[in-house]
Amino acid sequence: MRQWIDKLREERTLRPEEFRQLLTECDGESLRYINKQAQEVSLRHFGNRIFIRGLIEVSNCCRNNCYYCGIRKGNPNLERYRLSTENILNCCKQGYGLGFRTFVLQGGEDPALTEERIEDIVSTIRRSYPDCAITLSLGEKSREAYERFFQAGANRYLLTYDKEHYQQLHPAGMSCEHRLQCLRDLKDIGYQTGTGIMVGSPGQTIEHLIQDILFIEQLRPEMIGIGPFLPHRDTPFAQSPSGTVERTLLLLSIFRLMHPSALIPATTALATLTPDGREQGILAGANVVMPNLSPQEERKKYNLYNNKASLGAESAEGLNILQQQLEKIGYQIS
Ligand code: SAH
Repeated sequence: MRQWIDKLREERTLRPEEFRQLLTECDGESLRYINKQAQEVSLRHFGNRIFIRGLIEVSNCCRNNCYYCGIRKGNPNLERYRLSTENILNCCKQGYGLGFRTFVLQGGEDPALTEERIEDIVSTIRRSYPDCAITLSLGEKSREAYERFFQAGANRYLLTYDKEHYQQLHPAGMSCEHRLQCLRDLKDIGYQTGTGIMVGSPGQTIEHLIQDILFIEQLRPEMIGIGPFLPHRDTPFAQSPSGTVERTLLLLSIFRLMHPSALIPATTALATLTPDGREQGILAGANVVMPNLSPQEERKKYNLYNNKASLGAESAEGLNILQQQLEKIGYQIS
């Protein structure tokens, strides 16, 4: 196993059959080894500094019905909300005071969040916080829409893409080709683009993972989000098991060795799956955390999966807790 891990660090890629072996035969010792290699690469590129991004969940209304997602249109047991522009600006104000310099606006594909409205929100934040980066994670839009948001001042866009078994995760009517086109448009327009996969989602095979790895290698995104699938009680996947910590950490390290300078978060999903998930993610090569800056009253309603963490070190107010946790493993907030 070590030979593939060393080769991956050296050459930043493997042949499909070598990836297959790594994914199927990685035992505890090999996992610790690859995690260590990935952590070293991350330390070499970024030092012991962890970037923080303030996550603002702008709306839990969505026109889509993705089988895995708790805010899917077909979930009747969810109190829907949408933040006003004023509300979003308040989150930014609070975040700025806490030291955040990147705001991530995430939400469902809410038809009421029109292009005009998003453009207006982005340009207002841009005017108020010229020294901050604005990341959007609002799903699939037209190229023109992405261009408008970019012109208004957005810098980055996150759009996960489980390419290989897309059809198993999304109902008819949503298309894998369109999501791919979105990623291409985003890069082309000049966004720093992020993609990623849910590890252990229902139907995902080793072959899917290999193809996803190779696809992301080609795409060369600036950001790569790797989190475990977690079931949500009101979705068709309610009874499906979660992805595992081990496989998530293995993939995280694989992506770090392949993409030394990428921004890779220790995701909220990983921190939800296991209490020290955030730290484990960092020790496996992650270099970003995204504490929750959404208004307290709405946090519970942005329920993508069961028990989603939004308190303590996952919350913007808990930055001192995060700081302490990071210090314990030898890191600091950037
Ligand atoms: N609508 C936007 C953003 C909202 S979803 C979009 O589609 O991109 C935000 C992130 O949560 C996505 O990256 C998705 O992969 C993840 N997510 C949603 N449901 C999840 C689940 N059940 N388990 C783990 N991650 C989930």
